[in-house]
Amino acid sequence: MVRVSGPLSQTIARRLFRAPAELQPRLAQYGTVVDERGAAIDRGLAMLFPGPHSYTGEDVLELHVHGSPAIAREVVRAVLACGARNALPGEFTRRAFLNGKMDLHEAAAVADVIDAETRSAARAAVANLGGGLASEVTGLRGQLSGMLEELSGAIDFPDEVPDPDRAALEGVLSAIVERLEALRRDGERGRLVREGITVAIVGPPNAGKSSLLNALLGEDRAIVSETPGTTRDTIEESIVVGGVQVRLVDTAGIRAHAGRLEAAGIERTRRALEGARIALIVLDGSRPLDGEAYDILTATKGRERIVFLNKADLGTQIALHGALVGSAFDHDSLEALRAAIAHLGWNGELPDLERPHLASLREFDAVNEALEALGRARATLSAGEPADLCAGELTRAFSALGHVCERVAAEEVLDGIFSRFCIGK
Ligand code: GDP
Repeated sequence: MVRVSGPLSQTIARRLFRAPAELQPRLAQYGTVVDERGAAIDRGLAMLFPGPHSYTGEDVLELHVHGSPAIAREVVRAVLACGARNALPGEFTRRAFLNGKMDLHEAAAVADVIDAETRSAARAAVANLGGGLASEVTGLRGQLSGMLEELSGAIDFPDEVPDPDRAALEGVLSAIVERLEALRRDGERGRLVREGITVAIVGPPNAGKSSLLNALLGEDRAIVSETPGTTRDTIEESIVVGGVQVRLVDTAGIRAHAGRLEAAGIERTRRALEGARIALIVLDGSRPLDGEAYDILTATKGRERIVFLNKADLGTQIALHGALVGSAFDHDSLEALRAAIAHLGWNGELPDLERPHLASLREFDAVNEALEALGRARATLSAGEPADLCAGELTRAFSALGHVCERVAAEEVLDGIFSRFCIGK
């Protein structure tokens, strides 16, 4: 999403967005995003938030395009060509503050989250900067090619090369698999630190979801005061727990749709849970379990969830194994809740991002593919199958890992074999 703020926003919207109808305030419209010369860049959504009803208090334009960095870059370039300039770090929030949209306390909270995001992202990036991952994977590929030499030699030149020691090969293979799994594990945790996790707050009306959200945000401000006419049915706010960004999604806004019967509890829960890693179920613990609460508990069975029995100050009428009992207005309850999120979200321990780890989807794909091939290679070794089957799998793993090092060349194996075995004699 490319966001533009300031007096030029409406002009830019007219220049860069083509749709059958005029943009209506705060209403998403589907159309074509074009560049400053009118050439189509992408199909997508545009939304205009005329000031002062916007995040910054100024006219704001949002262009939602497909998630390709190239497309996003092109849209940014076109916006700049229309007279905008790149925002400085924190400038949107700074303008929001200058325009009276938020107080300093709120601005600081936003800054905390941005800072946490970038700090961990920076740390993660630094670990991989010096080519640490590539050199580690290159080392593993070297071992694979050594194994291939042994196998291929034995396959092609049975008279000159002794039969490979299968147990020894299996040992080397296991070590490689272990290292790759560690890289992947650290990569998964690293992704969590970079991207944070989403916690959906669900529960029956009046259980105290909004109170809890506000308390966690450490503010008295009513987050639920959405702009009238908004089409969003969830509210998302971020907090930082133990250095990880935790996005809290609350569904209170769903009730704000006037004239419509309140969606069934189950439906609301389902929508809030979409895309959330953890379900935070808030129930009024001072009253007996009712039908809706029961439905929500059933619907979230088997998920990672935290059950918070709220309003303990009014007494406790529900006994649920593993549930937290407390109050949205009690500091210790909030601490316990944060601890529960950290425990469930990342087992309370964060990865050492100074070590090389997988970061991009391409790297994950490559390592997964290599691990599958290595698993099959191991199976052929222990089943005593012909060495060329194993060699085939090792070659597959070798070339898959080439994607991590930005080099794809199964020929390298052959080069290695031919050069070291002096075949040409
Ligand atoms: P939601 O509909 O689940 O978002 O519930 P709200 O957060 O709007 O809370 C409903 C009512 O319960 C409000 O009047 C809150 O002040 C009250 N409430 C929330 N948490 C507590 C609590 O821990 N103790 C008490 N006594 N009241 C609470």
